[in-house]
Amino acid sequence: MSKWMTMLKERCISVSAMAAPTKPTEPPFVGFVGSLQGETEKIDQLAAERTNQDAHVSAWMAWQERAAIMEHEGGVTRPDAEAGALQDAIAHWLARHPLTPGVPEDGCMHCAGALPVDYRVAVLAGAGHAWLHPACMQEMKEARLALAGREVRGLLGFSEAAY
Ligand SMILES: [Zn+2]
Repeated sequence: MSKWMTMLKERCISVSAMAAPTKPTEPPFVGFVGSLQGETEKIDQLAAERTNQDAHVSAWMAWQERAAIMEHEGGVTRPDAEAGALQDAIAHWLARHPLTPGVPEDGCMHCAGALPVDYRVAVLAGAGHAWLHPACMQEMKEARLALAGREVRGLLGFSEAAY
C-alpha cells in the first residue's frame, strides 16, 4: 500500500472513531445582539406614537387639501376655507363615530333617566337606534359636537381657540 493510501486509511479510521456530531447546546434565544430585550413596552409605545403621528399627518394633509379645494374652487378666503374644512372634518368624525344603539329599557342615552313610552324619541345610531328624552336631544347634540371638535382639533394639533 502506498504511503498516501495508508495515511488516508488512518485518517478515515480516526474520523470514523470520532464521536458523532451532536447539535450544539446553546442558551435560549434572547434576542439579537443589541436588541431591546425587555423593552417591548417601549417598542409598543414608540409604535403607538408613530401611529398617532401618522394619523396626525394624514388628518392634517386631508384638512389642508379640503381647505385648498374650498379656497380655489369655492372662491373663499384661506381662513374661511380652513374653518370650513375643519367643520367638514368634525362632521366626518361624527359620521365615523355614530351613537351606540340601545333599547328604551336602558334609559335615556344622554341623562340615563327612565324613558316613559310617551316621552322618548329614537335617533339613528349605528345599525339601530338610540333612545332619549326629547328635551335631551339638543344637549346631546351639543355634547357630541364639542367632543368631535376636541377630537379633531387634537388630531390636527390645534388649540381650542383655533378656528
Ligand atoms: Zn334624558
